[in-house]
Amino acid sequence: MQQQHIHCSVNNCHYWNQGNKCAASEIMVTSDRVGNSMPDRFDATQAQSMVPTPASSCMETCCKTFVEKGSRNTNVDGITRL
Ligand code: SF4
Repeated sequence: MQQQHIHCSVNNCHYWNQGNKCAASEIMVTSDRVGNSMPDRFDATQAQSMVPTPASSCMETCCKTFVEKGSRNTNVDGITRL
């Protein structure tokens, strides 16, 4: 079984698991600006072709992979629940 290393307390996310663990196959942490401007289908599956996005503090970063539990958009980006 794959070990999980990402801890997250956002428990209304589709990928959230008991014990505050992230169960996404991969995630994209990026700048708030990208989080605000890119569609749901843009995510970790496109990370290789993405330009780097520096930030000055943790408050300028976000998890782009977040999708609300029960949302219709859970399958638009190629990310799966492990
Ligand atoms: S996808 Fe992001 S927001 Fe969702 S559980 Fe994982 S780390 Fe948290």
